[in-house]
Parts: sequence; C-alpha cells; structure tokens
Amino acid sequence: MSTVPDPTPPTDFIRERIRSDLQSGRVQRVVTRFPPEPNGYLHIGHAKAITLNFSIAQEFGGRCHLRMDDTNPAAEDQEYVDGIQADVRWLGFQWDAMYYAADYFDQLYLWAEQLVQKGLAYVDDQDVDAIAATRGTLTAPGTDSPFRGRTPAENLDLLRRMKAGEFQDGSRVLRAKIDMAHANVHLRDPVLYRIRHLPHQRTGNRWCIYPMYDWAHGQSDSIEGISHSLCTLEFEVHRPLYDWFCDALGIQKPQQIEFARLNVEYLLTSKRRLLQLVEGGVVDGWDDPRMPTLRGLRRRGYTPEALVAFCKHVGVAKFNSTHEFGLLEFFLRDHLNKTALRRMAVLDPLRLVIDNWPAGQVEMVDAQNNPEDPTAGTRQVPFSGELLIERDDFLENPPKDFFRLAPGREVRLRFGFFVRCTGVDKDATGKVTAVHATYDPATRGGNAPDGRKVKATIHWVSAPHALQAEVRLFEQLFTVPDPAAAENFLAVVNQNSKRTVSGWLEPSLRDAKGGERFQFERLAYFYCDHKDSRPGAPVFHRTVTLKDAWAKAQKKAGG
Ligand code: ATP
Ligand code: MG
Repeated sequence: MSTVPDPTPPTDFIRERIRSDLQSGRVQRVVTRFPPEPNGYLHIGHAKAITLNFSIAQEFGGRCHLRMDDTNPAAEDQEYVDGIQADVRWLGFQWDAMYYAADYFDQLYLWAEQLVQKGLAYVDDQDVDAIAATRGTLTAPGTDSPFRGRTPAENLDLLRRMKAGEFQDGSRVLRAKIDMAHANVHLRDPVLYRIRHLPHQRTGNRWCIYPMYDWAHGQSDSIEGISHSLCTLEFEVHRPLYDWFCDALGIQKPQQIEFARLNVEYLLTSKRRLLQLVEGGVVDGWDDPRMPTLRGLRRRGYTPEALVAFCKHVGVAKFNSTHEFGLLEFFLRDHLNKTALRRMAVLDPLRLVIDNWPAGQVEMVDAQNNPEDPTAGTRQVPFSGELLIERDDFLENPPKDFFRLAPGREVRLRFGFFVRCTGVDKDATGKVTAVHATYDPATRGGNAPDGRKVKATIHWVSAPHALQAEVRLFEQLFTVPDPAAAENFLAVVNQNSKRTVSGWLEPSLRDAKGGERFQFERLAYFYCDHKDSRPGAPVFHRTVTLKDAWAKAQKKAGG
C-alpha cells in the first residue's frame, strides 16, 4: 500500500513572518481572508489559497474572513456568490465572518474625497487609451496628464459630479497623484474610480462609479483588520501601491505577503478561460466532471480531504512552478483507498457459463467492503451459474505472461469459487460470445482445501442479478499538459475526454446514493453522481484509475 509523503511541517516563509510579527508585538491577532471575485466558480487554484488562509488562522488561533471582492458589476453574479460559499464549506472550512467589498463603497468613497482634498488624487478627463499610452514603459517614464494640475476644489467638484451620474462611462476617471516617472509603473498615477452606469448585484443603482482592484482591495483588508494579506505573486509589484494608499490615508496597514500560484498539469486555473469552456459548450457547465472547478472535481469524485492534503503538501513557494497531475491523483487515491467501499462491476462484459452449477440455484457469498478498513464490514453478493466477467480477463490464446482465464486454466472468482475454463462459444465472425467453465464447490470463499493455487483472481457479477447502469469514463480535458501555453487553448481540447458506457453492476449498487464513492474492484474509483442519479438508477463517474504511475515513478527515481 502507498503511504502519503510526510506532510509539510507547518513552517514556511509566511508562517515565519507571522510568528515574528506576533513575537515583536507588531500584530496582536492573526486575521486572514479569502477574497474571491464572484465572477465565476472556484477552481483548484483557489483551493490552495483557501487552505492556506484558513489553516493559518486555525494554527495561530486567529480568524479568517470570506470576502466577496465584488467591485466590478459587469462580470459578477449572485449565483457565483452562493456557489463560492457552498464550495468553501464543501472543502471543509467555515469563515469567522462574511464580508462584501461592495459594503465598503461608502467608506472607500469618503477616503477618495480625502485624497482629493489632500491633493493626492485628481480627476482625469482622458480616456483609458490615452491613459495607457502615457503611462510609459519599464524603461521610459510616463507623461503627466494635462488635467494633473487641477486644484483640490475643482477635483472635488468633478468627483462629486462623477458620483452623481453627470458623466458618461469612460469620460473621466479619478487617479491617485503619485509620480508619472516612478520606477514602478503601478505607482504612475493609478486609476481609483471609473464611471460605469451599471447596476450592482448588491448595491443596485446606488453607484455609477466603481473602485478599481488596487483601490478597493487593500482598503477592504484594512477595514476588516486583516493582519496578513496573502496573495499570489503577480501582486508583488502592487505591494508598494497597497502600502502607499494605507499610508496616505493613515489607516492600519496589513502586511501583504505573496506566494506562488498553484499550477497543475492539464488543469486550467483561470476563471476567464473556464468561462469560455462553459459558454462555448466545450463542457457541460461549471460542474462538468472534467472541469478543475471545485464543483467539477466534486462531481468527478474528488474528496475535500484529498484536495486539502494536496494543497498542504505543495505548500507555499516564492517561484511559480507546475505540479505533475500524478501528484494530485496520488493524494486522491490515498484517501479513496482508505474510505471507498469496494464493489464489483463489469464494464466490458463477456458471459461466463458454469456448466456444472445446479440449474436455477443462487448462492449468496460474503464480500469484504474494504480490506483497508475492517469496520466497513461485509455484504452479500449473489452468485449464479451465469456470470459476466471483463472481456479482457479472458484470452483464447494467451501469451506467456497472461495468468487470467484461458482454455484449460483455473482462476479464482473474487469472493466466490475456483473455475476452470472448458471451452468457448463463438459467433460467425469468430468472436468469443461466451466462455464455459466448471466450478469446484469445495473452493467456496476462494481457497482450495487441497492447497492448490491459482495465479489470478478476477471479478464478476451474476448476469441475472446485475444492474445495468450508465457509467461515464473521463480523460484529461486537454491533449497537452500546459493548455494555457497553447496559442489557442480551445484547439487542444481532447475530443475523447468523455465516454459513456453501460456498466453491469452488482445488485447492491442499486441503492447507491448520489455523493457516494466506490472502488469497482480491479477497475477504478467511481463516484455516484449527485446530479444525474435517480433512485434505483445510479449514474457513475470514473474518478481515477487504480494504477499509481506517479508513486511508481517516484520509487524508481529513488524518491
Ligand atoms: P482567475 O484568474 O481565475 O480569475 P483570480 O486571482 O482573478 O483568478 P480571484 O477570485 O480574484 O481570482 O481569486 C481569489 C483569491 O484566490 C486571490 O487571493 C487569488 O490570489 C487566489 N488565487 C487565484 N488563483 C490561484 C491559484 N492558481 N493559486 C493560488 N491562489 C490563487
Ligand atoms: Mg482577481
């Protein structure tokens, strides 16, 4: 059995920093937050940010807030707000308080007026293109706006009229007055407010100016008394601006600390691109089991425990990297191995007729529910003279290294009897349509009293008792490990990523409930879909196969 690699000890540059802030007394209490923008559903990258923020709050006896970063009404929706809350809970975390950046619009606006009055912000009548064109580059300074010299009184008047709705979208913005020649382009008079005559899902028609990310984010952190504002590396260059705003306003300044984004092979972690997959009909919605969204992963059969263990294992780093998909699967298999009940199912059936079985007789055999967990108990599975086995467990002319069923060969039927193959039926094309066998009644339970051994154990279901059910088999959604790097990620979609087959399942699975996870012995782990299953008619999703290529490769590499 595989074992999980040692969990990363809870120490890293973020925790070190927090510890030292507590020791020095700079921080009295640790307060973190997870601040999603409700413009899509959460994905596996967010799981990392969630795990980090919530675990740090737990470890340091602090608090963690959930804050909707809902400052852009154009892309946001209440549906996403609800979905995000459900997904954070599903991961197993509970926020100490829930906030909305939109609830801070009044405070943000008052602060903007303060900056104007201090001569630290001005209304610019240039449009976005002109502003972008005069920002300069990494090597060349920007140029001052012709409106930069407006007096505080003039700016205040214009800002109030912007807020009152006197001007059209895009006609004016409020900018901080910092330095158009600053070495950091983010400090070249960044935009604070733009005009958008759009209703907001939370504030309705109250506002027609909306704050930009940089202006809203740090101030929201400060309002909530966040001690450590953890964000991804791309915000490192924004940190001087984050600090500038807090200093200019004289408000509590949280410590922003950046860490690397989570990247996993084959998985896209951009809401914008995921939305394109949904809107383009490439997948069947945000919760499609091929999606790297938390709801997609959930429908695929991932457990929150496996995702959190994975996120903790990868830890935080100061440089971006991409994790092998096999590492994620490793944590998934590890948890499913311990928790998933074993069942028997045949996905590519071949009839096995036991010619010496008493006609019409059915025997119930005891089957273990989970060899990894004795408390999971046993169940009874019907055994009869007509079974279904996996087509590839039989070969008429087996090569040397094939030990399963073949003419003249004896194998064990899992939890049942030894059977010996006596012949086959074929159709006109020569295809094997049934395998004939005899069973040894003395081998009930799977052992021969005379001590003779068999080289293979195969699974089966009783044909007259089997439940036929829809089984969906998934593969990676993309044909390349780094779809984000492709010129057009839609061109590298795997056209065979979903296949639906009819499975023949042991009858106990008739009662499977949506949300339950099983190992179909010798095949894979499967999830009983909570969306499409109906009472008596479960639908199964293949979560992950049993083969652990990643662990094997690690072992080979001496890892
Ligand atoms: P996207 O590009 O998918 O829209 P985002 O960063 O814009 O992602 P937000 O809703 O703003 O999405 O993200 C909320 C929080 O999750 C932020 O603090 C962000 O840094 C973090 N986050 C987003 N993606 C990742 C990732 N791949 N790895 C780690 N943290 C992430
Ligand atoms: Mg964002």
